[in-house]
Amino acid sequence: MIIFFNTLTRKKETFRSLKPKKVSMYNCGPTVYDRQHIGNLRSAVIWDTLRRALEFNSYKVKQVVNITDFGHLTSDADNGEDKMSRGLKKEGLAFTLENMKKLGQKYAEIYFEDRKKLNTLSPTKAPFASDHIAENIKFISKLEKKGYTYQTSDGIYFNTAQFSDYGKLGGLSEISESRVGENKKKINPRDFALWKHNSQIGWNSPWGKGFPGWHIECSAMSKKYLGDTFDLHTGGIEHIPIHHNNEIAQSEAVNNKPLAKYWLHNEHLIMPDGKMAKSLGNVVTLKEIEEKGIEPLVLRYWLLGAHYRSPISFSWQALEGAEHSLKKLREFTSGLPTKKSPPDKKYLEKFKKHINDDLDTPKALALLWHLVKDKKINNSQKRATILEFDKVLGLKLSQKPKKVFIPEEIKKLVSKREKARKEKNWPEADRLREIIKQKGFEVKDTEKRPIVKNL
Ligand code: AMP
Ligand code: ZN
Repeated sequence: MIIFFNTLTRKKETFRSLKPKKVSMYNCGPTVYDRQHIGNLRSAVIWDTLRRALEFNSYKVKQVVNITDFGHLTSDADNGEDKMSRGLKKEGLAFTLENMKKLGQKYAEIYFEDRKKLNTLSPTKAPFASDHIAENIKFISKLEKKGYTYQTSDGIYFNTAQFSDYGKLGGLSEISESRVGENKKKINPRDFALWKHNSQIGWNSPWGKGFPGWHIECSAMSKKYLGDTFDLHTGGIEHIPIHHNNEIAQSEAVNNKPLAKYWLHNEHLIMPDGKMAKSLGNVVTLKEIEEKGIEPLVLRYWLLGAHYRSPISFSWQALEGAEHSLKKLREFTSGLPTKKSPPDKKYLEKFKKHINDDLDTPKALALLWHLVKDKKINNSQKRATILEFDKVLGLKLSQKPKKVFIPEEIKKLVSKREKARKEKNWPEADRLREIIKQKGFEVKDTEKRPIVKNL
């Protein structure tokens, strides 16, 4: 039995798939105007773990992750400069559709590289929004025919008053009018754009040149790849009040069927000054983590230590703690005999109970440590059980931790360099770095300690 907290009903429910042993899942994906930060990557890791958990329960999962690569406005509002346009400006690129596509491809590639480093499985489909303009237009035309739309001087809008169930996912009271966008042309403040006119650039449509609104792509692409109703729809909690309520309104108005059976939302990764977000300038990327000599899967381990419906507070110290733990787990597992053995049934049952209880990864990790320390389980069986757990955790636990042998001579040079750095003697620090390099080692400075690697 699998249990999920369903945002739609605001309670924990037993999961029953629409088709036997098959799951269809849509994950709201990134807007690819820049490198994703580790908050964005939290979603990627969580929903990958969910997919792995379902596969562990013998479901075949069809996972769709959309890539937003055109005019997606800065917030839930229908006004203001969109993220892709800002991205173009930042890179000094002219505002053209071709450049927008190029920018999107560049950052989508980096996003998929990051996902790979975090050992996430490849989604079954990762459709780009810009490749689905025709589907978007068709969807809006259907809404138009059914009387859900109206036109203003700046676009085509969805009339929320026409959809009696509007806002059923909740969160409406949390949003202020400024977040839905002050637009005097709208009939109701919560109405939202389906198509925005743009005389400069955009695609041709029955309503003139412009861009689809930012909610419609998910309705159009989920219908195309998963059908009118699918099992699971996921996203960050900030999507509940607007983006997801709007997806529901559009899709259910067209299809006359529920969009998704279960809605799952992840909490945020937070920094001391609030949610990790580009706009706050408090972001950390996977690249920075790697540059400090920390392996990406350490981030995965650290993320799984918090339940997906709890916020998680980032600190380098916490990440270093995770680095230490993962290293210990790998040292332990890689040292166990590789003799074939069945996994321990009791441990497997408990593990399944945890992951099937609304994806309780902190309890699953605690059980893993319990197993490591359990003297009653023989070593071959222990290894087999750990490897079963790892099918869901995705931490490559049987991998030997890489040992970097650092000769005494290099260690001395590194501490001499640290002393020079503390004294702000930068020329001396640079000179020593060069000597270290010539001897085949690279030194990287982090907040707490220098990291030495083989070149
Ligand atoms: P965006 O590119 O802003 O649309 O975000 C892409 C995905 O990352 C969405 O599903 C967001 O919910 C998620 N996201 C953005 N910031 C954070 C954060 N600080 N913590 C967790 N998830 C986040
Ligand atoms: Zn979406």
